[in-house]
Amino acid sequence: MTAELQTEPVETADLDARTYELDRAHVFHSWSAQGALKPLVLAGGSGTTVWDHAGNRYLDFSSQLVNLNIGHQHPAVVRAIHEQADLLATVAPSTANLARGEAAHRIVSRAPDGFSKVFFTNGGADANENAIRMARLHTGRDKVLSTYRSYHGNTGAAIVSTGDWRRIPNEFARGHVHFFGPYLYRSEFWATSPEQESERALRHLERVIQSEGPDGVAAILLESVPGTAGILIPPPGYLAGVRALADRYGIMLILDEVMAGFGRTGRWFAFEGYDVVPDLITFAKGVNSGYVPVGGVIISDVIAATFDERVFPGGLTYSGHPLAMASIVGALDAMESEGIVENARRVGAEAIGPGLNALADKHSVLGEVRGEGVFWALELVADRDSREPLAADAMAEVKKNLLARGLLPFVQDNRIHVVPPCVVTDDEVAQALSIYDEVLSLVPQN
Ligand code: PLP
Repeated sequence: MTAELQTEPVETADLDARTYELDRAHVFHSWSAQGALKPLVLAGGSGTTVWDHAGNRYLDFSSQLVNLNIGHQHPAVVRAIHEQADLLATVAPSTANLARGEAAHRIVSRAPDGFSKVFFTNGGADANENAIRMARLHTGRDKVLSTYRSYHGNTGAAIVSTGDWRRIPNEFARGHVHFFGPYLYRSEFWATSPEQESERALRHLERVIQSEGPDGVAAILLESVPGTAGILIPPPGYLAGVRALADRYGIMLILDEVMAGFGRTGRWFAFEGYDVVPDLITFAKGVNSGYVPVGGVIISDVIAATFDERVFPGGLTYSGHPLAMASIVGALDAMESEGIVENARRVGAEAIGPGLNALADKHSVLGEVRGEGVFWALELVADRDSREPLAADAMAEVKKNLLARGLLPFVQDNRIHVVPPCVVTDDEVAQALSIYDEVLSLVPQN
């Protein structure tokens, strides 16, 4: 069925209905059975707020797909895109372009010493895809180890590196092996302290490496802070321990900073908090807050040197697209000059963390609160002792109730991820906390 072509001007009030009708008639959505979908109509936004055509407003505590670090419609980013569009809207990847060089320069200047090159991709999945390829070519090995609780993207190798359910219907690539990372609240290792969880998870990883044959392992691919899987803050010593294991067995360490990077944890890179330097860093989302699709790989000099004489067999028509590059320059400059990363750190430490912990004191449905910066998870449980996750229908009710009170939430399995833009203010956090409080009061508690 085709939605009728609109020839007459549409009244603003009708635009929500028109948007919904066109979407349901013609748009095929990600990760969904299409029949029951009821997508929320959004027409505009500013900072931490979004609205539909009729003017219904929502506090965006999802940052869309946890990518909108700088907030909606930041004028510096919009302006940078406009100016580049006026100058040169597209250019081949083989050319040298000023916006591309400026973007790469700004990215490597925030990376650790020993990283001078960036390979740009269209998003996070193909960043991981190309990082895996670089690690394989550099080491001459094949296998890639990643955790069950992870998401790395929706392309060939990236989806098979992913640990969660999205891997299983897509398992066509080879050489991918999974292991369990640390997650004390639901420990796979019978651990009772963060130190024990860290030590046992490292021991498990070493046994997996040994059992897979270390000489065949090219890379360990990890999210610095696993995001979609539950904002799993690594316990003390874990990432440094993974680095040591990678060094012991000649394996490349790829840290996926697609969701955690560029401010979300209150640091430019999440891994800076964990005493570790990887060999390859993948990024996307927060680097330009998704105003134009982009991602990339930050390459250590040692790996980059592998491709000085040898051809890197990879590329994309839109690698380093000028509109995306201009948006990176605009976003990173504004984040720097406006102290946006510092704001994420401060708001997390002073407002979100204490506020969510106070909610946990009040509502027994909250089994655990964890996070940092503007990257927090609430685990909702049917029972605090057994830690049984709150049922899906109860979670759907929570989501509906949050939305009805003007908060756009990020709900994943039995969790609410509290992930506003890095520009969120104390007032907006206070408003959100009071909405979470009201909605949690409606959940039957033990
Ligand atoms: N890696 C991580 C950690 C992610 O969270 C995501 C997306 O959510 C991806 C990779 C894939 O990024 P994209 O959807 O831009 O391909």
